Amino acid sequence: MTVSDAEFRAVLGRFPTGVTIVTTCDGERPAGVTINAFASVSLDPPLVMVCIDKRSHMHGLVAQSGIFAANILGDHQQDLSRRFAGQVGDRNERFRQTAYHLGVTGAPVLDDVIAYVECRVLAIYPGGDHSIFLGKVEGLGATTGEPLTYYRARYGALDMDKDASVVPGGRE
Ligand SMILES: Cc1cc2nc3c(=O)[nH]c(=O)nc-3n(C[C@H](O)[C@H](O)[C@H](O)COP(=O)(O)OP(=O)(O)OC[C@H]3O[C@@H](n4cnc5c(N)ncnc54)[C@H](O)[C@@H]3O)c2cc1C
Repeated sequence: MTVSDAEFRAVLGRFPTGVTIVTTCDGERPAGVTINAFASVSLDPPLVMVCIDKRSHMHGLVAQSGIFAANILGDHQQDLSRRFAGQVGDRNERFRQTAYHLGVTGAPVLDDVIAYVECRVLAIYPGGDHSIFLGKVEGLGATTGEPLTYYRARYGALDMDKDASVVPGGRE
């Protein structure tokens, strides 16, 4: 069976995700890109993964620096997501008006996100036109705030039933 681009996007687009900005350093300069292919992998040791397009600028930068931070966006940060996806402005302007500090790995951590994980690259696996970067978590943090969501190529926000029971054995 052959799968067309359109079919693939239509089906996979029905899996809702959050939105992150994955950051790293280009020498002294911060670099970042909008990524929704982000997931937790392992608890012990703590591992996460991000998938990055092999043709993108960011691919080479993360491979070279060996560090990245995944900054999890809040529902007020659609504009930031568009900017770091290259849909608005110039790549060199992405960090303008975006406060950040360098975290324990040296990767930029954005100040106004709802959570972040900082990683050292443990392995890079082939994944078709993307590469899968496996990262060992070396720092992390979270604040209050609701996440930005992405579903069928649209941004949204969670409408959680705050009274719903917690899934037994579920991860927070
Ligand atoms: C909600 C959302 C989620 C996203 N999730 C992901 C994700 O999980 N992984 C991911 O990799 N990207 C993802 N993107 C896309 C990514 O944010 C953008 O492609 C971004 O501009 C990459 O920035 P860059 O500076 O690294 O890439 P740039 O170097 O600016 O390249 C941008 C894109 O242009 C294309 N391109 C570049 N050079 C060439 C070339 N020579 N020939 C043909 N095409 C070329 C590639 O597709 C590349 O990804 C997502 C975007 C959005 C809006």
